[in-house]
Amino acid sequence: MPSYSGSCTCRRIQYDLSLSSPDDARTSLCHCHSCKKAFGTNYGLTAKIPKDALRITEGATKEYAADNGSGSIIHREFCENCGSFICEYGDAVKDQFRYLVVGSLDDPETLPPKGEFFCRDRANWMPEIPNVFHKKQIRE
Ligand SMILES: [Zn+2]
Ligand SMILES: [Zn+2]
Repeated sequence: MPSYSGSCTCRRIQYDLSLSSPDDARTSLCHCHSCKKAFGTNYGLTAKIPKDALRITEGATKEYAADNGSGSIIHREFCENCGSFICEYGDAVKDQFRYLVVGSLDDPETLPPKGEFFCRDRANWMPEIPNVFHKKQIRE
């Protein structure tokens, strides 16, 4: 069973991610405006994982919940001390999934992207990622 470790920048929050197979993680880019703001850059990069695959082993995340701009509530968890973003999830899937911020993994390259969402909002200077799926908007 593959296991991955991760943390925030200051390492007060540390976690383990356990997957039955790497295919259980779906990493994707999201170009929506809510992700631009939350990540502080031009896209978000998260891995969709089963909720129970993520176990916080040190510290505790702080949660911020807000309307994501399309009428649904999104929850975002981060380190209160250093501000690193750890994960997010829509209210409708909060009991099933987490969208883990891929950059918080100790080895982010282990879970490369499988697709891109909200491509209509892609920054003009940013090329498409080749050989992955591309959706104009919705993130399912
Ligand atoms: Zn921290
Ligand atoms: Zn987004």
